[in-house]
Amino acid sequence: MPRPIRACIDLAALRHNFRIARARAGRTRLWAVVKANAYGHGLMNAFQALASLTDGFALLDLDEAERLRAAGWRGPLLLLEGCFEARDLEEAQRLGLGLVVHCAEQLDLLAHARAGPAVDVYLKIDTGMRRLGFPLASAETAILRATALPAVRSLTLMSHFAEADGTGIGAPLAAFARMRDQVCARLGTTLPVSLANSAALLRFPQSHGDWARPGIMLYGATPFPDGSDVPAVDLRPAMTFESRLIAIRDIAAGEAVGYGGSFRAERPLRVGTVACGYADGYPRHAPTGTPVLVAGEVTRLLGRVSMDMLAVDVTEIPSAHMGSRVVLWGAGLPAEQVAVAAGTISYELFCALSPRVRRDVVDADPSST
Ligand SMILES: *Cc1c(COP(=O)(O)O)cnc(C)c1O
Repeated sequence: MPRPIRACIDLAALRHNFRIARARAGRTRLWAVVKANAYGHGLMNAFQALASLTDGFALLDLDEAERLRAAGWRGPLLLLEGCFEARDLEEAQRLGLGLVVHCAEQLDLLAHARAGPAVDVYLKIDTGMRRLGFPLASAETAILRATALPAVRSLTLMSHFAEADGTGIGAPLAAFARMRDQVCARLGTTLPVSLANSAALLRFPQSHGDWARPGIMLYGATPFPDGSDVPAVDLRPAMTFESRLIAIRDIAAGEAVGYGGSFRAERPLRVGTVACGYADGYPRHAPTGTPVLVAGEVTRLLGRVSMDMLAVDVTEIPSAHMGSRVVLWGAGLPAEQVAVAAGTISYELFCALSPRVRRDVVDADPSST
């Protein structure tokens, strides 16, 4: 029998969440962001769920794009960090990919492109993240240069806000809009824009533009750190990370649990051992008290997470037995709650899910494609 740990990927939940994004976006088109193996959910699982719904897929790696083309996707694909060298550009042209261009070196690549189909370019502007993108002050020069390149078929202006999930986007959005109006007036044309991630899509309709780029919300988690917006937007977890109890023991007051004895029982406890550890992607830094669902009831993690196991308190769950189902996050226990307890974000939990964990596809509502 295989180890009783798996991640159930719910295609119906992916579709449900995508439809919420669609309803929020109105006429704005949507890139389904499927980078990082669809945030750990499996690229082909996300593709299967969303191919008939989305306008395009946004990702990072050429081989991910290649897999979607091989699976029959003929629609738009966008490489979110663009190309790194000339060879990538040829491959991107062959695959018909849209490219983010965030720096002068990438414009040089396009300027030196050998013959081949012209590409759709998303010119990235830095509105405050200070990570990728042309600074606002040099945006006009970059845009004018890009529009003059024969290898550029279309130009979209793009930015990624640093504070869409926090203090807001008022000032950067205004600065971006000023720059765009100026450049468009000069060019005598309008250029489409793509600005919104999940947080901006949910919070700032004025940022929707022509194409939005939802990621995390498609997987059923809120981009807002405290998780408070989950019920408000009715997202459904697309991943349920689950395992089983493989041992149960009673311990006396004063006894310790796990490596280093970092947890010591203040009273007699019933302790369950779960077949899930940090080698499966459960965060090792999750402290005692992190919520875990055992036999349908919320309880707490005890002591240090091991490589292949962790301990939970089942003192108040008399029905817990060997083989009881344990949900680490997902249906019944939002990943955001686990993330907050562990000092991280749901994004990291999902992406860190180990390749050794089997992904089982479920489709609770197969009729609604
Ligand atoms: C990852 C990413 C997104 C999606 O962000 P979410 O917060 O997951 O919605 C959007 N745009 C860019 C450029 C990204 O890298």
